[in-house]
Amino acid sequence: MTDLERLRHSCAHVLASAILRIWPQAQFAAGPPVETGFYYDLELDHRISLDDFERIEAEMKKIVKENQPFEKIDVSREEAFAMAQEGRLAALGRREQPSKFKLDILEHIPEGEAISLYRNGDFTDLCAGPHVMRTGNIGAFKLTSLASAYYRGDANNPQLQRVYGTAFKTRAELDAYFAQLEEAKKRDHRKLGRELDLFQIDEQVGQGLILWKPKGAVIRQQLQNFIGEELRKQGYSEVFTPHIAKLDLFRTSGHYPYYRESQFPPLIEPEALSRLASEGCSCAQLANQLTNGELDGYLLKPMNCPMHIKIYASELRSYRNLPVRLSEFGTVYRWEQSGELGGMTRVRGFTQDDGHLFCTEEQLAEELRQCLELGLNVLRALGLNEFRARIGLRDPDSSKYVGTPAQWDKAEAALKQIAVQSNISFAEEEGEAAFYGPKIDFIVKDVIGREWQLGTIQVDYNLPERFDLTYIDSDNSSKRPVMIHRAPFGSLERFCGVLIEHFAGAFPLWLAPEQVRILPISDKHVAYGGQILSLLKAANIRASLDESSDKIGAKIRLAQLQKVPYMLVLGAREEQAGEVAVRSRLRGDEGAASAPHFLERIQQEIKNRKLD
Ligand SMILES: [Zn+2]
Ligand SMILES: [Zn+2]
Repeated sequence: MTDLERLRHSCAHVLASAILRIWPQAQFAAGPPVETGFYYDLELDHRISLDDFERIEAEMKKIVKENQPFEKIDVSREEAFAMAQEGRLAALGRREQPSKFKLDILEHIPEGEAISLYRNGDFTDLCAGPHVMRTGNIGAFKLTSLASAYYRGDANNPQLQRVYGTAFKTRAELDAYFAQLEEAKKRDHRKLGRELDLFQIDEQVGQGLILWKPKGAVIRQQLQNFIGEELRKQGYSEVFTPHIAKLDLFRTSGHYPYYRESQFPPLIEPEALSRLASEGCSCAQLANQLTNGELDGYLLKPMNCPMHIKIYASELRSYRNLPVRLSEFGTVYRWEQSGELGGMTRVRGFTQDDGHLFCTEEQLAEELRQCLELGLNVLRALGLNEFRARIGLRDPDSSKYVGTPAQWDKAEAALKQIAVQSNISFAEEEGEAAFYGPKIDFIVKDVIGREWQLGTIQVDYNLPERFDLTYIDSDNSSKRPVMIHRAPFGSLERFCGVLIEHFAGAFPLWLAPEQVRILPISDKHVAYGGQILSLLKAANIRASLDESSDKIGAKIRLAQLQKVPYMLVLGAREEQAGEVAVRSRLRGDEGAASAPHFLERIQQEIKNRKLD
């Protein structure tokens, strides 16, 4: 238990003490710390509502103020059972009803295991600890929400009330936590995605399947263009591959049947399906035949790698052609449980900014370095300046790995070296490598301090082996290339979700779906606005003209709300002078400029991908 978890769990005891002062008959079950705080499950005739929080918190404050020591009491099994029978566990004293959940918990403790109670004030609970020294050590707390939960998570058991709270060492930390939550709510990409018309999820299309609306599609296209430019600089060749392939391909790669649970089930050829139906084949038989390869089908691809491998293998490769660097914005499909789906960050179909490199052992370190550099360049260009890396190394005591120890030593050393050279903070984690090679994962911090795991770079000694990939070396011998998988952002869906929250929907000019909005002060200036619009459109600027009869103040407010980077206000003065009054979303009024001058300025900002 970390110090914070200890503090929060101690606060759960304080919560239970407080509830018992109000409702002495409450029956408590479990009260562990959780990621954002703590909870305690209880059974009570009174249905606790948010309106009760004030009263419960007031009692909790008193208990904290009383600065009761947490006292550990070791008891025998018999003593513990006797106390539970008398209703004295998770209670302020003897009660008529036994402490029924605590009795059950006791029955689950194996014979011979030590049993301890913790006491603060009159409250005694069955608990292994640990706790803080005194209730006064709980610096600041707050009850946050209510839920219901079955005892032991089993629907056959009684339904309990779950009271959630959180606690911190200081008031300042608690305030900062709620301020961040508030900010995160405002930035929630599901909310902003709706408000700004970026993407939608339609029940009839399916959960976890993203429809990119025109404005969201602009952002994605701009990102793809940008990443594409960076890739070409690094010598990548872009390829396109289909969304489905024969099961046999994924049997060779090992993706099927080993990762079957996380894939959509296979598709079967129509003739095969009718033949099987006429033979009266059962579902179980069908599944068997697919697994053992008697029947071949097609799979929605869960990965792009096997197809890129086929492109590599389509011609004889010489050491002179290496490295081969293939990239694709490749859409893949994974079966995620519906409970895990939410917005763009967890989906069932997504497009990876995928790439595969095939190189010699000697080239590996340099290729890894470039992969890292590419990822970092793009993150920095988007103002995501804080990141750390996790390097997954092999477990030296395990023999599950493919590739020789010498190859692993080299690859692991290369990963560590590039992390050091690029000056990012990183941690090495033994045993976290995939069985086929070591890897490096990126964790990015957004503007409000939340961490997101994005892309990854992985060395692979396995797939070149399974597909028997080769190249001809300088001595004419046939050698095995090493493969690197890399997707700096993981998926465009997830990355856009993170970016929406990072920018709070206010995308920089180069990414903004609508870059400029022209706002005539009255009908008289709409024609002039039309001229400006044509000028901007001819220069490929994403601009629009607000022809509504609204007052100028309302037009500005709307454009501001829709986070349009630049507004051009047009009145009699501007029209006569052939100028536009520039208004920035961020900086407000920026004064008048000639239209060509304004155009030149924003073209420069777009070209430089200026952040704001
Ligand atoms: Zn405890
Ligand atoms: Zn791959």
